[in-house]
Amino acid sequence: MTHPASTSAPRPVRVLISGASIAGPTLAYWLDRYGFEVTVVEKADAVRGGGYAIDIRGTAREVVDRMGLLPRLREAHIDTRRITFLDAAGDTVGTVQPEQLTGGQSGQDLEVRRGDLADALYAPLRDRVEFLFGDSIATLDDDGHAVHVVLDSGTHRTFDLVIGADGLHSNTRRLVFGPEEPFHRYLGHVFAGFTLPNELGVAHEAFIWSEPGRSAVVYAYEPSEPVHGFLTFVRDTPPFEAFRDPRAQRELVASQFPEQVWQVPRLVAAMRTSEDLFFDIVSQVHMPAWSHGRVALAGDAAHATSFLSGQGSSVALVGAYVLAGELATHADHAEAFAAYERRMRPFAERNQALATAGGTIVTPTTRAQVDARNALLRDPEAMAKELATAEAEARRTTHSSVTLPEYTPAP
Ligand SMILES: Cc1cc2nc3c(=O)[nH]c(=O)nc-3n(C[C@H](O)[C@H](O)[C@H](O)COP(=O)(O)OP(=O)(O)OC[C@H]3O[C@@H](n4cnc5c(N)ncnc54)[C@H](O)[C@@H]3O)c2cc1C
Repeated sequence: MTHPASTSAPRPVRVLISGASIAGPTLAYWLDRYGFEVTVVEKADAVRGGGYAIDIRGTAREVVDRMGLLPRLREAHIDTRRITFLDAAGDTVGTVQPEQLTGGQSGQDLEVRRGDLADALYAPLRDRVEFLFGDSIATLDDDGHAVHVVLDSGTHRTFDLVIGADGLHSNTRRLVFGPEEPFHRYLGHVFAGFTLPNELGVAHEAFIWSEPGRSAVVYAYEPSEPVHGFLTFVRDTPPFEAFRDPRAQRELVASQFPEQVWQVPRLVAAMRTSEDLFFDIVSQVHMPAWSHGRVALAGDAAHATSFLSGQGSSVALVGAYVLAGELATHADHAEAFAAYERRMRPFAERNQALATAGGTIVTPTTRAQVDARNALLRDPEAMAKELATAEAEARRTTHSSVTLPEYTPAP
């Protein structure tokens, strides 16, 4: 679908993107393809590798296909075959297939390490687009005609547009829209993710030990790789004080898991000394508008869905594709931003709603929910029936609930 140019103003060409993870490089790829001059600033020293597994499903699969990335991502597919739930004593209660929980489609969805996706997105860009690693936007001044940017390194640059693709705690959002708290919808969980040696010798499967409001998870990819550990727990208020103090984070997480059963003590010990600890709240971002003047937001910065939805990367991929396409087919950036939001907001909101729907199987918060979940797991037929509900079908529909236009920019 093409959009006629709406004004005779020159199309903005110089775009600065903050963040080189999922949304940022996807946007950079399409903008570069449409003839924009793209610069990406990333606070880390390189594209961050490794990381937990993410799924690419529904419409997002179409985006990576249009980018020619399917073969590479198929090779990187992790192929988790089963998830085993354990009771308080660490004994197996039952097993399910991942697609039963996510509403995904076996053989269709891609499950890859977040870092592998980021690398795949970055590879075709590295020689085409300017990347400024180890830097960050310090100030932004949008004078209505251009955005004057000062980076932490002291560099001064001017761009026609700036896009914040810098994640849940977006720096760009803070600079333009103010502190993050009003835009966060805290979902009541805190989590710590880290890697540890694969002493269990397991592969292509996950184990979830749960007590009310708490889970200890081991997620294994290849036998030769470290496994990923996750410790999650419920908390009424977000522990903002712990964000400023890495030692307090480790203490807080450890204090929630005193049990000396199964792998719990090993996970706690690994979390305490981990060099790749990832501590965060489970939260969504809800913004009244995704742009202001010449600055817009993409990916988690605009509409984080949280990992409980399993859809954050997928929505980030689709949103970046749509934003680039709308910019390429509108002469006026304000109209492009409005069109992007009109098309994407319903999709983002439907996916956000998945995070709070039916969460009691993976994250039961009361004893009754744990018991009911375990009873279902002990009866695979009942579990299959429970999971094959209309809700599972609704999930699948949600994953593909936006039409991906073919954008053809005017020459
Ligand atoms: C444990 C876990 C499991 C998940 N599982 C799934 C799943 O199964 N499926 C799924 O679709 N999604 C999943 N997600 C969500 C997914 O990771 C995010 O939604 C997705 O990564 C969002 O991409 P993004 O590019 O918008 O932001 P991010 O991936 O958060 O990237 C932001 C980038 O901006 C950079 N940055 C930050 N601050 C600055 C700054 N000041 N200046 C410059 N750069 C900056 C960061 O270094 C990073 O590279 C999961 C998330 C977690 C935590």
